[in-house]
Amino acid sequence: MTSNTTNEIDIVRASTSKIDAVDFENLTFGNIFTDHMLICDYKNGAWEKPLIKPYEPFLIDPSAKVFHYGQAIFEGMKAYKDENDAVWLFRPDENHKRFNHSAKRLAMPEIPEEIFINGLHEILKIEKDWVKKGKGNSLYIRPFMIAIGTGVIAQPSTQYRFMIILSPARSYYSGEVKVIIAEHYSRAANGGIGAAKAAGNYSAQFYPTKLANEKGFQQIIWTDDATHTKLEEAGTMNLFFRIKDTLYTAPTSERILDGVTRKSLIEIAKKEGIAVEVRSVLVSELIEASKDGSLMEIFGAGTAAVVNPVVGFSYQDTYYELPKLENSFALLLKEKLTNIQYKIDDDTFGWTV
Ligand code: PMP
Repeated sequence: MTSNTTNEIDIVRASTSKIDAVDFENLTFGNIFTDHMLICDYKNGAWEKPLIKPYEPFLIDPSAKVFHYGQAIFEGMKAYKDENDAVWLFRPDENHKRFNHSAKRLAMPEIPEEIFINGLHEILKIEKDWVKKGKGNSLYIRPFMIAIGTGVIAQPSTQYRFMIILSPARSYYSGEVKVIIAEHYSRAANGGIGAAKAAGNYSAQFYPTKLANEKGFQQIIWTDDATHTKLEEAGTMNLFFRIKDTLYTAPTSERILDGVTRKSLIEIAKKEGIAVEVRSVLVSELIEASKDGSLMEIFGAGTAAVVNPVVGFSYQDTYYELPKLENSFALLLKEKLTNIQYKIDDDTFGWTV
């Protein structure tokens, strides 16, 4: 191992790389990690100096609060490589902002830009060979923070660990996505933590999603917890509904994550001359639009899959199929967004860094 340091970050390099053993043509999402990780601890009211070191497991005390009270938050973002071998991030400031929003909601310390953003830049310089060229290839970035302070008293921790780990990814075709509209379970409630990227939001979805899987549906479209009449989001994606030629997406709220893909697609759609309305779509409207033939598309939008078209949905045990379209908004918007991310088109929005 070799060590060096920037002003802000200590670096201990791995003596060998695992990269030659990786089959980049056959990656399953999120299973393989790069040679290094960034680690930064928070103690005595302050963040310590971050360290980039070889990827490896670490020890935590069994009484650490993350295990008992779930103080854990994360982000999901990607790095892309252009044809000139330059590595790009997409709106990383948005992920940093959202991370701190999540931190605040879970009574965790916010993380300064010098650690979050500089940390990303430094670790990506070291791991740039893990970002493969070609549309669809990317390096998935998982920043996260856990409470490592000890003691099972139900209080916020005073010690935290922030980390960044990286996993090579390929664009994936997730097969036909059929969804079921939630009638009983909820993902989030007003005043809750739905707008935070908190670990507990995801574990809470696993059981209802398992029930949906058993019925042959891949995802659940969550509805508002109070009335189950408004369509909200699905899995790790915000949702778009195209009725006739207008795209609708629910406003972000205390229950809905403010997705970077969603807000980018809204701007791209507007630029492409597509009418976009940010408002809740009612389940009843969706059923009616499906019956009268005006419902054209439903698609999810998120960093991992970019855009994920839905082929049909179930509500109250009735299945409604979506039409198969030649000129879908989903594919047009996916093309436009990924052309910006891979620097194929000019980034007139100034989103790439
Ligand atoms: N909703 C939820 C619940 C998510 O976990 C994600 C993934 N971060 C999204 C929406 C999409 O957000 P983004 O476009 O920033 O990936």
